[in-house]
Amino acid sequence: MSTFENFEMVDNQIVNNKWIEWNHFGIPNEAGFLRETIRILMLVLGHCLICTKLDGCYFVERKMPEQPQHERCDCTKLNKSQTQVKDVSNSECDIRKFTDYIFRGTGGKKDLFESWGYTLKDSQILQKEFEKQAREQYIKGNYELKGLDYNGQRIAIPINLKGNIFYSGWMVYPNGKLKNTTPFGGWVK
Ligand SMILES: [Zn+2]
Repeated sequence: MSTFENFEMVDNQIVNNKWIEWNHFGIPNEAGFLRETIRILMLVLGHCLICTKLDGCYFVERKMPEQPQHERCDCTKLNKSQTQVKDVSNSECDIRKFTDYIFRGTGGKKDLFESWGYTLKDSQILQKEFEKQAREQYIKGNYELKGLDYNGQRIAIPINLKGNIFYSGWMVYPNGKLKNTTPFGGWVK
């Protein structure tokens, strides 16, 4: 491993993208089925729900939820390489975010997307574009931490549609998985 491995250029700035896996149970994602079984068992037993949700999630170290989360929190962080995160990461944006939410809604967001030349029939194009861009930016560590609660850690990821750059909201899941919560969450200033 080279000393410079974690350093890269993001938006013309050199940043340290050292990745970590949030670990609550001492069993890394690689353990697969065993880890899943224990995770579910811990949930049933009423372990700290927030730490349980964070378990197995990947963050760049400079943008990770606070550790420890609470008194006697025994969570740790495991080092990951960017390649490991890149290999497994994927993002999911439900097409209904566009078909049922953006374009069926009235006012603001619908007008905004239409002003950029998108209509209901472009929902699939938008879905794929959001999934692609969100994953790319996440892997670069280009995201902002948002609310953390019993549902998990939310992050904001910049999306660029025809030069219009804005934040979209995503929930972080174990193994580098992202799910879209909000297609448009405000302008990037
Ligand atoms: Zn904890």
